[in-house]
Amino acid sequence: MTDPLPAGSTIGILGGGQLGRMLSVAASRLGLRTHVFEPGAHPPAGDVAHAVTTASYEDEAALKAFATACDVVTYEFENVPTAALDLIEALVPIRPGREALRISQDRLVEKTFLQDLGLTVAPFADITDAASLDAAVARIGTPAILKTRRFGYDGKGQARLQTAEDAPAALADMNGAPAVLEGFVEFSHEVSVIAARGPEGDVACYDPGENVHRDGILHTTTVPARLSAAQRTDAVLMAAKILNALDYVGVLGVELFVTPQGLIVNEIAPRVHNSGHWTQNGCAVDQFEQHIRAVAGWPLGDGTRYADVVMENLIGHDMDRVPDLAREASTALHLYGKAETKPGRKMGHINRIKP
Ligand code: AMP
Repeated sequence: MTDPLPAGSTIGILGGGQLGRMLSVAASRLGLRTHVFEPGAHPPAGDVAHAVTTASYEDEAALKAFATACDVVTYEFENVPTAALDLIEALVPIRPGREALRISQDRLVEKTFLQDLGLTVAPFADITDAASLDAAVARIGTPAILKTRRFGYDGKGQARLQTAEDAPAALADMNGAPAVLEGFVEFSHEVSVIAARGPEGDVACYDPGENVHRDGILHTTTVPARLSAAQRTDAVLMAAKILNALDYVGVLGVELFVTPQGLIVNEIAPRVHNSGHWTQNGCAVDQFEQHIRAVAGWPLGDGTRYADVVMENLIGHDMDRVPDLAREASTALHLYGKAETKPGRKMGHINRIKP
């Protein structure tokens, strides 16, 4: 048995963005503290965390002091440098564990892991140079998408190939970074499952949400998603299989393509996920509290959904709409306190509860 962390314990969070902010709010509701580690100045999570360390991931002394001050450490993004994790792990447990990070940091490793679990993924190939790309295009066909193996997010580090002639330009777009080629999936829509696993292996899943992207960034998540009962069961079973295989502790997001042939896994995120923000106003225990509960060894909440919700991200100058949105009935406003509005920057979100 993992003893639940008592009131007043401190959860370290690597990364101080909006996810760290909402994790901190959830932790404080449970009487727990958070300590945020973030290289950038004035992180959104800094306003609400109990402590903030502003230091780089190369600063060994700062990492050690941070780890010593925490009872458990979690993270809000997957690209935490390995050396930093090694230093922290020598002093305090990291949850979710290192294996989830190792796998989700690299699209090739991730796709291979998912395929080995028996889940369906788009056809893919390891791309190291023009010859391997030509061979992959010949095997997989077009249209296809070339993606950097690491550090891609919100559609960045990706190039479409409509025909084989697009291969050289797509490869040039990768700037020499190792890449994977993926066959283009003709999906009808995209959904995601937000699921949690506790240290004893108990699993709780939220109802899948249906996601619409704009310019590569999540625009809306709608629950319930358009899925048959069988597809909904499939989605949840897939998420549970991934959680168990990773001996995972915490919340995980699984993005899926819906096709006439079944559900295809696009990618996994070993953290709370933008497409799970609807849970803040649709469930008794939202994804942030759920993650805190899991990493603190508390019992998980259930994933029961009490309302139909449409989550909409407020990106860049969507912030101009805030005065009107604040007057809307049945709409919950969640703002991240970012000082500067920039195009493409996630500034907040709303959850519209359907009557
Ligand atoms: P990703 O960064 O891999 O999540 O990709 C961002 C978005 O690009 C996805 O949410 C899809 O809308 C689209 N996309 C990515 N991979 C594929 C694929 N293999 N086939 C079709 N669309 C894709």
